[in-house]
Amino acid sequence: MPEAKKLDTTITDSIVAARRQLECALQRAGRNHDDARLLAVSKTKPAALIREAFQAGQRHFGENYVQEALDKQHALADLDIVWHFIGPLQSNKTRSVAEHFSWVHTIERAKIATRLNDQRPQTLGPLNVCLQVNISAEPTKSGVSPEALDALVEHVVALPNLRLRGLMAIPTPMEDHDEQRKPFRALRELLEQLQARYPTLKLDTLSMGMSNDFEAAIEEGATLIRLGTAIFGARDYSQQPNTPAQKD
Ligand SMILES: *Cc1c(COP(=O)(O)O)cnc(C)c1O
Repeated sequence: MPEAKKLDTTITDSIVAARRQLECALQRAGRNHDDARLLAVSKTKPAALIREAFQAGQRHFGENYVQEALDKQHALADLDIVWHFIGPLQSNKTRSVAEHFSWVHTIERAKIATRLNDQRPQTLGPLNVCLQVNISAEPTKSGVSPEALDALVEHVVALPNLRLRGLMAIPTPMEDHDEQRKPFRALRELLEQLQARYPTLKLDTLSMGMSNDFEAAIEEGATLIRLGTAIFGARDYSQQPNTPAQKD
């Protein structure tokens, strides 16, 4: 981690605490300290807090709502932030995402992948993507079913402006630690199958684990955990009339 400027603020403290928790979880799991990366999920939070997190050494940020993200990117254009799109993605928003993000974690349909590929500016290089899997098999949840995953992978790997990095999931929230591990294990096994089938692709990303279950995710091999509440505190959607009051 780069030397961080010391600020007497809670965001700085939270970033430091989250990094320490991540390192402890990795150590307990017998993994290397740099085997997993922290993505700070900043949806509904103001640009000023993102700036503060950046000054504490955080570089990767995740956003869910396109217009909100573009506004913050504009306000933070002086910072070398790596932006990840982690929200549901509609066809009419793919251009903005293709042009303004480095990563998309939530690809679940071939059509969206094709649009992102066609709209990605050549100058930016390939867009890093993860396929979102409906690992808990909930009818209402986002994500491709495990059965349909292979066909989506075949489609995406043929798109030159997308670089498939791995899989992402948001399992049903559960309290019990061992229960939390099961869907994460299932996602890891799906990735391992893909790694065996596509050895040249270097699929290196398991985007799984949030504030309440990241330790279980780390034990099952997460390489990228997405923390919102643990870093920025609870989200208040009532103050955001323009943000979809969407449960996440
Ligand atoms: C909001 C969100 C998170 C962060 O959730 P917390 O429980 O606040 O850590 C992570 N991943 C996705 C996809 C999200 O939408």
